[in-house]
Amino acid sequence: MSTTRPLLVHGGTVVPMTAAGEARVADVLVRDGRIAAVGCGLPADGAARLDATDALVLPGFVQAHVHVVQSLARHRAEGRPLLAWLGERIWPYEAALQEHEIAAAARLGIAELLAGGTTAALDMGTTHGQDAIFLAAEELGIRLTSGKCHMDVGDGAPRRLLEDTDASLAAAEALGERWHGACGGRLRYAVAPRFVLSCSDELLHGAVALARRHGYLLHTHASENPDETRAVRARTGAGNVAALAHAGITGPDAVLAHCIHLDDEEFALLARDRTGVAHCPGANLKLASGIADLPRMLAGGVRVGLGADGPPCNNRLSVFHEMALAGTIHNLAHGAGAVDPWTVLEMATWRGAELLGLERVGRLEPGWKADLVVLGCSSWAMEPVADPAAMVVFGGGIEAVRHVVVDGRPVVADGALVSVDGAALRREARAAAAAIAARLGWS
Ligand SMILES: [Zn+2]
Repeated sequence: MSTTRPLLVHGGTVVPMTAAGEARVADVLVRDGRIAAVGCGLPADGAARLDATDALVLPGFVQAHVHVVQSLARHRAEGRPLLAWLGERIWPYEAALQEHEIAAAARLGIAELLAGGTTAALDMGTTHGQDAIFLAAEELGIRLTSGKCHMDVGDGAPRRLLEDTDASLAAAEALGERWHGACGGRLRYAVAPRFVLSCSDELLHGAVALARRHGYLLHTHASENPDETRAVRARTGAGNVAALAHAGITGPDAVLAHCIHLDDEEFALLARDRTGVAHCPGANLKLASGIADLPRMLAGGVRVGLGADGPPCNNRLSVFHEMALAGTIHNLAHGAGAVDPWTVLEMATWRGAELLGLERVGRLEPGWKADLVVLGCSSWAMEPVADPAAMVVFGGGIEAVRHVVVDGRPVVADGALVSVDGAALRREARAAAAAIAARLGWS
């Protein structure tokens, strides 16, 4: 919980995400890390003020699947489908990462998320150096659920990424004890077996036991690519989501990224078990993985959030990019208006927060956590002012982000990061990325 002075976000149009279509001119008073009141003429003596004139005030955006540790490989892994992308670029990159480079990658990724209005994210690390990711989240102020990645089998994976099963799980347990609930609950731990093809049955079962023993989220990838799904079927005799369910990775405490290539039974499984799905249309298009059937999932009652996935497969961590895609690409299969923009906004706010198990995050209501974003309406594509969801989902972009607040504390003010020097952070990232590319022989 924040102990900073009260905060008044004044003069804006509040979109509280309590009901589709709801928006009104109001101030937001923040006290002790929570929304104290939403209304006009609020008593705000002694409060710091954030100007929301000519702006929309929304809950901070939530992304349900990212990899900030991959940030230094951005623009360096082009033109490959998933398994080649992993084997030729991403795994060698992750294996080469030293701790100070993991810190630089995490700082770049988290800075980008915050500057783009994403206040909470579910993140997957790599097999080592996870503390540096949490330290970066602590410093920059994001609400981050993250965990080291587990891999103990798999063709083509570098030796450094393949861990002893018990040692890998023990490392996760120690990390969870260090970080779950840190920073007043802003940081949380998630157990993250990479995907079925990287994990022995023993590792999958151990990951489930560890997560359930401590109440941690389970986070993995599923059914992203047809080659991956075929290989999973060859090994397990089942579809990817079904295989994960058989291992116990199913239910409201599990988040599966992608879920593109599903059979009827798997759609039903996701809904029945209330398993979370992270829809990542930007990465799915980039890697030519396919298009997840979001309208079918929503109609079937599946819980879905949005995620940008990794910087090298997108190549941005902008929730606006994912929202615009989620609101448009499904028109191809289902017709115009397949997913309405209010539903997209819900996935990017409270529905995403529910997936992450975050309580009272994702709406602007008294008593809810004070995670919010102020979006200026003067960027070209936001004009002229009309339905807020259409403006944000189809016309919004990171250039609209004016202020960002997490846990009642401003982390972006007038477009600039509050707690770090953005220019220095970028210089650090460039130098680290160049050093890694040189070591890996990337031109
Ligand atoms: Zn991913």
